Amino acid sequence: MRIDIMTLFPEMCEAVINESIIGRARQEGIIEIECHNIRDYTKDKHRRVDDYPYGGGMGMIMQAQPIADCYEDICRVSGKKPKVIYMSPQGKVFNQQKAKELAQYDSICILCGHYEGVDQRIIDELVDEEISIGDFVLTGGELPALMVTDAVARMVPGVLAEEESFTDESHYSGLLEYPQYTRPPVYKDKSVPGVLLSGHHANIKKWRREQSIETTMKKRPDMIKKAGMRKDDLIILDNLLKKDHSDDKKDN
Ligand code: SAM
Repeated sequence: MRIDIMTLFPEMCEAVINESIIGRARQEGIIEIECHNIRDYTKDKHRRVDDYPYGGGMGMIMQAQPIADCYEDICRVSGKKPKVIYMSPQGKVFNQQKAKELAQYDSICILCGHYEGVDQRIIDELVDEEISIGDFVLTGGELPALMVTDAVARMVPGVLAEEESFTDESHYSGLLEYPQYTRPPVYKDKSVPGVLLSGHHANIKKWRREQSIETTMKKRPDMIKKAGMRKDDLIILDNLLKKDHSDDKKDN
């Protein structure tokens, strides 16, 4: 998979994508991620990429020409026509489902806005989808683009050591992950749950599923309704509800 990021701050993006798991996957050629400086494409002799908004108002708007030329160059060099995403507080809020969906593409191109955003005509002409990372406003699209890049890249086969690393995780299956522990077995008088030390794989799997359902019920009850529940899960859920009910009775 290839991800191209169009930005005015390529160093900011490079600093993140060169590190850790994603940096290693890039080096090993498992995934291609390229950052492009939109300013390199301006035809303005002072290298300007923004101008005042028509109709007045605060701030500056990124001009269409440098973005369009940057995109054309990406298509020419890569030989691909990527799906174009504009990071925007006006987009649909990003989630794991969207990350899964984007990871299926051969090539995506992410446009980072800055200042007051980009000329609407570039959105109309180039952008396939606007994605937000939440209902708040940041100064630029770089952090949102890096979040999307990270979430998508780690689902590309080979980026993580094993596929289970993400299929077992929070949100992938509609539930939150079970609690995790590492050495030592006892820390400040608190022991790791015995089942995890038992070596009994079926029991560990069952315990993790129960914990996953319980954690989701406690932290994100809204997710339980949407999660795809198996028959066994419904029994677990029923037992948890009964337990909760009897705890409530004891408290009163
Ligand atoms: N004037 C724009 C508006 O009201 O919709 C906001 C512009 S914002 C200050 C500058 C840039 O930051 C945007 O073009 C976008 O690329 C990025 N940005 C800000 N908040 C974002 C969010 N929640 N999700 C994704 N991108 C965001």
